[in-house]
Formats: sequence, C-alpha cells, structure tokens
Amino acid sequence: MNFTVIATNKELPFPVRALRGGESTTGRWTTTRPTGISVPAKGEKFASRSAQKGVIGLVVPEADMDFVCEGPNMGMHADIVMSPDAIPSRMTMGSPMVEMLLGVLGCVLGVQIDGTPFSMKDLDIDEIGDMLEKAGQNRFCEEQMRSGITGERICGDNHIAGSSSMGKGGCVMGIVYYQRLAHFVAAKIHSRNGGPLNEGTRQPTNGRAKKGGLRFGTMEVDAVVGHGAASLLRERMLLASDNYYAPVCCMCNLLAETARDNRYYCRQCGIPGTCELVQMPYAAKIAVHLYQAAHLPWRMAIEP
Ligand SMILES: [Zn+2]
Repeated sequence: MNFTVIATNKELPFPVRALRGGESTTGRWTTTRPTGISVPAKGEKFASRSAQKGVIGLVVPEADMDFVCEGPNMGMHADIVMSPDAIPSRMTMGSPMVEMLLGVLGCVLGVQIDGTPFSMKDLDIDEIGDMLEKAGQNRFCEEQMRSGITGERICGDNHIAGSSSMGKGGCVMGIVYYQRLAHFVAAKIHSRNGGPLNEGTRQPTNGRAKKGGLRFGTMEVDAVVGHGAASLLRERMLLASDNYYAPVCCMCNLLAETARDNRYYCRQCGIPGTCELVQMPYAAKIAVHLYQAAHLPWRMAIEP
C-alpha cells in the first residue's frame, strides 16, 4: 500500500516511513508507507471545521451506542456524541447548523452542497428545514433515541414534555466532518515520583522532556486551602518540592551561613552556637538573600 504525498507532515495521525523522495517542478515529494495505525483512545483530540474541538471522554462498544428508535433513520447511531452546551457560548453556527443540516440534506438528496458558512449571503434555516421535511427528515434533524445499554428512551417528547420549543424534542443527529488533531495521548502521558531538580531553585524541573514535576499552581493551592487540608499543602509545596533547612541566628534573627567545618555561623554576631535550623522552601531562602542584597534584611523571630 504505497501512496504519494506532496506535502510532508511530521505529525500525521499514523506512523509513517518515507520510502523515497525527490524534487519535481511542483515541489518536493516523498513516497511514504503507513507503518502502523493509531486507534483513537480516551483523551485523543478531534475537531470539526468550525474549531469545535474536544477530547474523547469514553469509548463504548458499538452495541452500547444510543440509537434512533423512530422515523426514517431508525436503527442508526452516531459516531460521536457531544454536549449541546458546547455550542451557544462558542457561537460557531457553522458546524451544528449549516454543516449538519445541509449534510443530512445532501446525503438524503444525494447532492453536493456547499456548507461553508461565510459563502452564504442569506442563510435561511427555515428554508433548509422545509427542504429537509420535503425529503422526509425532521426539519431540525432531531431524532427520538433510546439508550443502547438499558433500552430506555433518552430524549424526546416521551422523556421530557416540551423539552424543545422548536420541535418535538430529541437528540440532534447529523453529518459533520470531524478531523483528528495531532495531539496524541501516547506522546503526552507523563507522571513522575521524584526526579531531576532545577539547580537554581531546587524545585522540580518543568516539562515532560526533562522528566519534570506536575505543576501545583495557584488554583490548586486555593482548592486545597478551601478544604482546609494544610498537611497536604505542606507536603506538596514543601516536602515534595524544595524542602530546605536554613540556619537562622537566634540572637539577630538573620539568615546565617554554613561555615567551613560544617557548623553554622552568624556573620553578624560572630559568636559560635547561636544558630538553629529552620525548615523552609529553598525558594524562601533565595527570597531572603534577594532582600538582603537590597539592604532589606528579613528577621525571622525563632525560639531557641
Ligand atoms: Zn546573629
């Protein structure tokens, strides 16, 4: 199975091996062969041509998919199920209305229709609806559906009375072109239990390529604070990050230093044995130094 591609793309949705290449009058060319298939799994990303993107949350067997239980499309099921809540706020009328309704219309009539939203001067949904009804379809492409698992009716007028002000109520099902995006779970999955640290801050490195830690950001801190889980916060932000014992002088309350003989020594007081170790993030110790460099000493009141 050989095929020729004109433009080479390093992020095709399947692994590809180049067989031969060259230059022609139209540009560079390569003959490639797919060396494997990448089956869509949980977390893989797809998008319609109106940039309605999303990731797979659940893969179900075909027999468990919800199916149409009435009308001319009885027995059919969708390939992708998505929430209608994703449509109004994004205001992309291209994929749900133009493409879906015209897709069904073109499919039933067996004709090609231009579904580009901006190419139409006066798009009349009612006109499309009339044509759909004439072709024996629901004018809003609403289908009465049953669950493929329990057999229960999952939407439509028997389920919630008056659920739709426009039609009878139901699940909108139609034909929309969805394309796979080159964001693969296998290329992004990452976790770590300890690993390399940044030399400057002594905090975990950032990024999968550097075997980095997973960011515990401001919002995560706020969530933990909101739950009152102080020990978890301490564990994440200090113990699992840049835990450090800094010497602090009990007399002047300034940050001390480690002397040559591994004992702690306060340069300010100059008396041995005045220091205590204080646990703090290494980042805090750096902050103290930065302030000291600007003649703003931090004095940490500690009890010996
Ligand atoms: Zn001191």
